[in-house]
Amino acid sequence: MKENSNKLLFGIFIGVILGGIFGAFFGPQAVTLKIFGDLFLNALKMLVVPLVFVSLVVGVTNIGNISQFGKEGAWTIFFYMLTTGIAVITGMILVNIIQPGVGMDLSTALTPDKVSGTDYSFIKVLEGIIPANLFKSMVEMDILPIIFFALFFGICLSQLEAKGKVVVDFFNQANEVILKMVGYILLTAPVGVFALVAARLGAAGGAHFFTNELPRVGKYSLTVILGLGIHGAITLPILLWAVSGRNPFTYIKNVLEALLTAFSTASSSATLPVTMDAVEVKNKISPKISGFVLPLGATINMDGTALYEAVAAMFIAQAYGIHLSASAQVIIFLTATLAAIGAAGIPQAGLVTMVIVLKSVGLPLEGIGMLLAVDWFLDRCRTTVNVFGDTVVAAMVDKRIDGKASFWQWLRS
Ligand code: ASP
Repeated sequence: MKENSNKLLFGIFIGVILGGIFGAFFGPQAVTLKIFGDLFLNALKMLVVPLVFVSLVVGVTNIGNISQFGKEGAWTIFFYMLTTGIAVITGMILVNIIQPGVGMDLSTALTPDKVSGTDYSFIKVLEGIIPANLFKSMVEMDILPIIFFALFFGICLSQLEAKGKVVVDFFNQANEVILKMVGYILLTAPVGVFALVAARLGAAGGAHFFTNELPRVGKYSLTVILGLGIHGAITLPILLWAVSGRNPFTYIKNVLEALLTAFSTASSSATLPVTMDAVEVKNKISPKISGFVLPLGATINMDGTALYEAVAAMFIAQAYGIHLSASAQVIIFLTATLAAIGAAGIPQAGLVTMVIVLKSVGLPLEGIGMLLAVDWFLDRCRTTVNVFGDTVVAAMVDKRIDGKASFWQWLRS
């Protein structure tokens, strides 16, 4: 069993690498592979809505009582905020040191269609949390309202106590069925990720992308990637080890499939089934924790996106020669966090919510145009860190709720 899962992981890893090579050298031909990537992506997306619904109900009904649930919710939000805050600060320190925007060529600065006319506001996101029509939210794969409904449903179901047993059992078993489906879909992942990576790189011009497009905003991309690297490879593993006591290497190895899927799909939501499998099945985190932390995290906990939003906004300011005072930088810190919370777990959602950050300190929206050509690539990198952040928070909450030693006990020991 273990050997099979190692083989699969190796297959997915090779799929990403070969996809990169194929996309780089056979650009236009690689695009024709898109269909295989889309089939894999559709299979994952197909599971997202039932999985979110079922796993949340399982999570809430397993928790036992409302006060325990409140405790879990509070720790989850605390760790989301902590990790996102550290990510933004990392990005802001780097962008202040590297100054990637200074001396930029502004000729490519045009407000992209995607962003122009977006009347994006955080209030709208809040408004959407309570679904007026649950089925509409399901059809649109709008996760936050589904989370709201499932939590409400789960809490009421647990109040039925013994009378609700049949329904609780149904959801527990449905959860197992869906995780089994994830296991089967994952068998096709090596081909799926190969096709996704190859076709996307092919569409971006193959190797040309790395030699021409990326260098144009090379310093900016480097700042984002360096920040993501520090957060993903240093900060999060240290937090994971310090708070949960788990070995970061084993933990990362067990979530690697999810990270590679996140990189290939650029979508935290589409990756969710794989993330659940990695955290619940492979890292043995209790379903009552993962069922709540991961679906919520896929939509609101985005460390990578928050870091990128802050770096991008400061980069635009530097390129336009706009000085940002300390208080403006504090506003960027806050709005980058909000923009990441508001971004959906879908490709390039962060690019759209960046409007919040830019508007908050009066930066020109055209600046986004400079970032467009490389955004699809950075999106994959930040999505990988977003998903990793969710898995780390799941382990930390698991320890705080079920574990014995606390962070403070650990610090004092
Ligand atoms: N694609 C990212 C995600 O799904 C969101 C973003 O930063 O655009 O996590």
